[in-house]
Amino acid sequence: VPYLPNPDRYQNMQYNRCGNSGILLPKISLGLWHNFGFYDSFENARNVLKKAFDLGITHLDLANNYGPPYGSAEENFGRILKKDLANHRDELFIASKAGYDMWPGPYGNNGSKKYLVASLDQSLQRMGLDYVDVFYHHRPDAETPLEETMHALSLMVKQGKALYVGISNYNHTDTIKAQKILKDLGTPCLIHQAKYSMFERGPEANLLPTLLDEKIGSIVFSPLAQGMLTDKYINGIPENSRASKDKTHLDKSTVEQQLPKIKQLHQLAQKRGQKLSQMAIAWILTQPAVTSVLVGASSPNQLEENVLALNNTSFSEEELQFINSILNS
Ligand code: NDP
Repeated sequence: VPYLPNPDRYQNMQYNRCGNSGILLPKISLGLWHNFGFYDSFENARNVLKKAFDLGITHLDLANNYGPPYGSAEENFGRILKKDLANHRDELFIASKAGYDMWPGPYGNNGSKKYLVASLDQSLQRMGLDYVDVFYHHRPDAETPLEETMHALSLMVKQGKALYVGISNYNHTDTIKAQKILKDLGTPCLIHQAKYSMFERGPEANLLPTLLDEKIGSIVFSPLAQGMLTDKYINGIPENSRASKDKTHLDKSTVEQQLPKIKQLHQLAQKRGQKLSQMAIAWILTQPAVTSVLVGASSPNQLEENVLALNNTSFSEEELQFINSILNS
């Protein structure tokens, strides 16, 4: 049966302007870091993507090495795009990145022009695209001159292989330097991607104010602290959850350590009439610098639940203070 997208998909999603660009991004975007590799269920991945599109989530975030194995999330995404969304390419804002380990030898990692240019070509081939909407340098590389890396990003735009450029995991001072170089090259930085959640508040001090100042959009990853800021771990570690799997970035001991805070936050969310996941997303959206909250989802239901966060995004002063007191305890 061919997929027929929800005709009302743009009615319920809300969109924010990304920095001072022409681009609007959904307040909630979907990342394909987990759940889209060759070891994951292809049908489930397909259903999650269709659900995203039906919910008005126009922005999808990938990277060269998402999988596992490396490259497989892009390859699966390309297959799904072709099967289900071929007529909707222009309704999607698709990101990829390079900067972490990708292939063996000296040219498959970090920030050289050699690596970035080759990696984007590979990503385009895997996804079956002529261009990505935004291409990021995935993490700073202290060994490569910033000028070289930014030239590489700018070149991609000039070659038509990316429409915009972004940077990820850069601190505020490097962000300012990168933006200066990119602006001089005529290809300003569209967006910055950083880790930010109730459990990861580092960006509040300098990064988020800098992004506002520089008029760079901000998309934040692991907003649910990889699932900790949901109700899933309250009664133990369920099978098939991220923390239950080997070789993930979320270990059981971290979950157990955060459990007292998770339980208190869960209670507050219940009082507000929402799920903890929804409160955690809504709380991030109170930051004026944040353009979009970049969630992951292992099922269509999770995504549906997360998008309902937009129904209640206001907090009283007391609630915000109470959250601070839980997080600082
Ligand atoms: P989240 O913090 O949103 O974690 C997603 C995970 O949380 C899901 O896979 C699922 O885990 C669980 N979850 C999500 N919604 C619910 C729900 N409603 N109820 C219960 N559990 C839920 O984000 P990620 O850590 O996945 O990161 C999101 C994206 O950010 C990535 O896909 C990637 O695109 C990007 N990213 C970028 C990085 C960078 O360096 N630039 C680094 C990391 C991520 P489960 O499998 O247990 O069900």
